[in-house]
Parts: sequence; structure tokens; C-alpha cells
Amino acid sequence: MNRLSIEEFEIGPIRPPSEGGSFSLLLRFSRNCSWNRCTFCYGLHYNREKFQLRPLDEIKGDIDKAKAISDIIKETSIKLGLIGQINQEVADALFRYYPEARYSSSFVTVFNWLYFGGKTVFLQDADTLIMRTPDLVEAIKYLKKTFPVIERITSYARAKTALKKSLDELKALKEAGLSRLHIGLETGDDELLQKVHKGITAEQHIKAGQKIVKAGIELSEYIMPGLGGKEMTRQHAQNTARVLNEINPDYIRSRPLAPRPGTPLAEAYHKGELQVLTPHELLAEIKMLVENLTVSSKLCFDHALNPSVKSGFGYTPLLDQSYEGYQLPGEKEKLVAIIDKGLKTDESKFATVEEIARTAI
Ligand code: SF4
Repeated sequence: MNRLSIEEFEIGPIRPPSEGGSFSLLLRFSRNCSWNRCTFCYGLHYNREKFQLRPLDEIKGDIDKAKAISDIIKETSIKLGLIGQINQEVADALFRYYPEARYSSSFVTVFNWLYFGGKTVFLQDADTLIMRTPDLVEAIKYLKKTFPVIERITSYARAKTALKKSLDELKALKEAGLSRLHIGLETGDDELLQKVHKGITAEQHIKAGQKIVKAGIELSEYIMPGLGGKEMTRQHAQNTARVLNEINPDYIRSRPLAPRPGTPLAEAYHKGELQVLTPHELLAEIKMLVENLTVSSKLCFDHALNPSVKSGFGYTPLLDQSYEGYQLPGEKEKLVAIIDKGLKTDESKFATVEEIARTAI
């Protein structure tokens, strides 16, 4: 049996579903969240661990480790006469030669990445823009030099951090190869932003979003229907639409509220301080948002937290869960018609917030 010396590179805990769908290579440029205070999240995805910047050399070292694994995989393909093509035959041969590779998360990640095209990369963790711009530019350029076939590099960022970057800095990042940023808007309502400790105002969200768009970086804005509960549903929908209209991001991604155990928001919910929306109320809020949008964005419901109807032992999503979603404004009427159909469906057929939370968080 052959021995393979695999050097593991760091992989953080989360990435957006759309990056999972494209089997993006995950590279951890920083660790955890620098904020950890949003009441619905509390940095729990990162176990509330301390935020850490990673030294540039360490990041480059991880890129080198991914490259070394990629070389082994490609050499195996060539040895098999498959001229670099990565398929099941290569997987079978690799795991036959190197059985221990199955247990290496780095190896499996790189294999899957190459198997599905090897064109997209996601930079982890919660706020990559917080790196010094020259360091981030250098790291991205190094990544592209190491893997010239990469076509898309994306990352999470806080809008507050984006706001602190100059337009020229963002353009330099775009020029280096940063293609898309995923930002948590959650709501465009100032009162609610404050209530959930998002640490930013609606105006600042608008300025940050507009700057990213102006720099030519694609923008995915995440919104959280239901976040304001019954009390703030109208202002949440209307002000979120207003902020999105000002930004006109490439993507709007819906992630309805589900109180996550261990968060201050879940505590408020259990104490009866937050009245969560019923399935029909959630649909009505989404409808209000959609009707108020004037954007040319793609509106996506690409997460299991979105409204779904019970079917057998599982749930069937009411709305299309594709990563490209509904193209607005062209598909607005179609979307409203589906929501209206949902509003006419017996509410007891829908999964409740609690039921969805049990399966989707
Ligand atoms: S900034 Fe993002 S990761 Fe950090 S606490 Fe808020 S929602 Fe969670």
C-alpha cells in the first residue's frame, strides 16, 4: 500500500449554499467573525471563537497545500491516460493507491472541487475585507497565479467593513480577481437593525452596497424575512425594499428568521418578547417586499428556511430554491402569483418556523 503525505490546509465551518452548489474550493483567509454580536446569530456558526487575521505567509502556505493535492490528483489522471480529466476512474484509482486520502478533508475538498470544474473559490470566514487591502490583493493574486483556471472568487464581508474601504481599494480587489461579495443586510429598517445589534445603519448599508457595485464587484445581499416579528413586519418589508432599491445588488437572497438556540433572539422568543410570524404572515411580508422592489436583481430563495409545504415525511419548497432565483422585474408577477397561491393554501399545511428550524439550521 502506498503512503501519501497530505498536508492539511484550514477549512472554516461555513460557506453560502450557492458556493456549496458549485463545489467551490474553500480557503480560510481569516478565522471566525470580528463582530459576534448580531442577536439572531451571535457568531455561533464559528462557536463564538475569537476573530483572528491570518498572516499572509500562512494563507499562501494553504494555497500551496491545495496546489500540491491538486497536482497529485492531476498526475494520477495523466498516469491513467485521462490527460488531466478528473472523473470517477481517477477517484477509484486514488483511493486504491492512497486509502488514507478518504479521511483527509483537504484532499476530498480539492478532489470535489476539481471534479466539478475547479473554477470557483470561496474565501472564509465572516469578513475577509477586514484584511489590509494590499495583503488581500496579494493573496488573491497569488491564488490566481497558482490556479490560473479560476474564474470566480467570492467571500463574505460586513457592510461596515466595506464602507471603510475606498472605492479605489475595492477596484484594486476587483482587479486582483475578487468577483463577488456576500453581505448580510438582514433588514433595511434602522429600528430593527439597532434592535438586532447589526452595528450599522440603513444609510451605511446603502453606501457600502453602492460602493461595491460601483467597483464592479458582484453583490449578494442576504435578507431575513420575519426578523422583526409581527410587530415590525410592515416597516421591515418596506424599508428593506427601499434599501435594496438604492443598492440594486446582483442578488438578493432570502433567509427567513428561525430562532437559533443559544442566541439572544431565541431567548427573547422563548420569553414571549418576540412574536414570530405564522407561515401566511411570512408570505405576506415577502409579498410586500417583492411588491416594493424596483431592482433588476435576482431574488433567490436558495435555503430550506424559506416557506415550504409539508409533504409526506419532508417539505416541498413553495418557491424556486435555485441559486439564480427569480430575475426581477421580469419575473415579479410570476413570483407574486406563487406567493398568492401559497396564501390561499391552508396555513396548517406549511412548515412552521419551529419545524423548519429543527431541520434547516
Ligand atoms: S456579522 Fe455575520 S457572522 Fe458575525 S454575528 Fe453578525 S450575522 Fe453572525
